[in-house]
Amino acid sequence: MRKSIIPVFIPHLGCPHDCVFCNQKRISGSLLPASPEDVVKAIDEALEKCENAELAFYGGSFTAISMDEQRALLSAAAPYLAEGRITSIRVSTRPDAISEDILSLLWDRGVRTIELGSQSMMDCVLSASWRGHTAADTENAAKMIKSRGFSLVLQMMTGLPGSDMEKDIITAEKIAALKPDGVRIYPTVIIRDTALADMWAEGKYEEHSVEAAAEVCSEILPIFEKAGIKVIRLGLNPSDELSGGDALGGAYHPALGEIVKSRVLLKKAREALKGVKAGENVVLRVNPSCLSQMIGQKRSNIIKLSEEFSLNSLSVKSADVEIGEIIVEFVAKEKSL
Ligand code: SF4
Repeated sequence: MRKSIIPVFIPHLGCPHDCVFCNQKRISGSLLPASPEDVVKAIDEALEKCENAELAFYGGSFTAISMDEQRALLSAAAPYLAEGRITSIRVSTRPDAISEDILSLLWDRGVRTIELGSQSMMDCVLSASWRGHTAADTENAAKMIKSRGFSLVLQMMTGLPGSDMEKDIITAEKIAALKPDGVRIYPTVIIRDTALADMWAEGKYEEHSVEAAAEVCSEILPIFEKAGIKVIRLGLNPSDELSGGDALGGAYHPALGEIVKSRVLLKKAREALKGVKAGENVVLRVNPSCLSQMIGQKRSNIIKLSEEFSLNSLSVKSADVEIGEIIVEFVAKEKSL
């Protein structure tokens, strides 16, 4: 038995319109929003496999649906909360759909975490992505949510229409300044049956490649790390629908998070190796959990660093150091340890 999230999808429920990049039916694989009966069914099925679970409403704008509909969906979970069989509820919603009345309803019904799709903190990007809210809406909503004692998760995207690396980094800095309890980073994927797919086909949007996403996210990840903010997701969850052809282009890669972490370590290693003389035999010591990330896919980091610094040999070995820390050791001659 393990702690778990019970996801319930309400695709596009409450959304005033579709944002350019979004097709929740293809992302979640759910065609219709869940009813209160579906909520009960999802909880019953999940509780056969886990305990201490948290119920999560994803895929729509939960607080933009009517208060009665919110009550109905949340009430379906009430008996399980009362019995302690689920611990709490989280909802995902839009920054412009938060008010003191809504927060009171959510708190009274057991919601303890609110995820806000902030996506960008640049109004020009929000407008080009048809978000229909401003960065100020995110700031106001985040402050209200935190002041009422909820956990706050902010979602941001990279590579949106009208954005670039600088704007994405500014977005990350502004989001970090709001001190959320966690963030999710979703580099833009071009999903079938979206306005973005049309814009791309018409040459009005340049694809945010996996490489571009890795580069910008490797700058963004340290911003959140430094601020002590947990990145709870990087990249869209892989799904049969997306892998089966619904992801037409953009930054869709099942291992995107690993690729980004590997890029972050590559940049840190470059810093650590500055001043090292050509021809040296070097060992990079990292936390055991970072070994494969430091080495890189197909040894890409080893190859790049060896060439850039003209090293005689470069290997990566584990050590009792913090995650993300790199210690450079020199060896008199190459040894197979
Ligand atoms: S991104 Fe959020 S607000 Fe926009 S259409 Fe998708 S679920 Fe709705």
